[in-house]
Amino acid sequence: PDISDLVANRLRDVADFPKQGVVFKDITPLLGDGDVFGAVIRELASRHTGSSSAQPIDAVAGVEARGFIIGAALAHELGVGFVPVRKVGKLPGDTVQRTYDLEYGTATIEIQSDAVSPGQRVLLVDDVLATGGTAIAAWDLLGGVGAEVVEFATIVELAFLGGRKAMGERPVRALHVVG
Ligand code: IMP
Repeated sequence: PDISDLVANRLRDVADFPKQGVVFKDITPLLGDGDVFGAVIRELASRHTGSSSAQPIDAVAGVEARGFIIGAALAHELGVGFVPVRKVGKLPGDTVQRTYDLEYGTATIEIQSDAVSPGQRVLLVDDVLATGGTAIAAWDLLGGVGAEVVEFATIVELAFLGGRKAMGERPVRALHVVG
């Protein structure tokens, strides 16, 4: 089976979560299946490793909280470091923040100011791309401290929410596209 089908078979639709009318894509069945979790990590790593790698990277960045799970496993697979992108108020030391719009209200995420060295090539990952607000904010935070973000990689893309279009010129890779 191809990776998109493997992912699809380990996604759970949860109605009315986190609020009425939303169908939440739950990746915990995928994380709980060692074979599929491993296949997902190897697939994400594939274009950034080996002698024929088109896109070598120096670090993986992941967005709290599910992006930590994917990102840490991927960083380990690639033998590079991990950069946490966190909800505001959790990181010690100097940080830079970005606030973005949600459907109702706003969210703020941050990274440490010295999270990357100038010119470091960073792969940004998360579990799900929805409207793109989170990924754009994380991308621009990393770029703002000197990283060269090479790609945003996600397990699931909810295409009907327009995230890829919102991302503009920033390359997006999704293993499974819904809608
Ligand atoms: P966006 O900012 O609208 O693209 O939403 C993406 C962020 O919200 C990511 O950090 C996801 O983890 C989370 N998210 C949004 N929708 C879902 C979903 O259906 N399942 C799991 N996570 C989601």
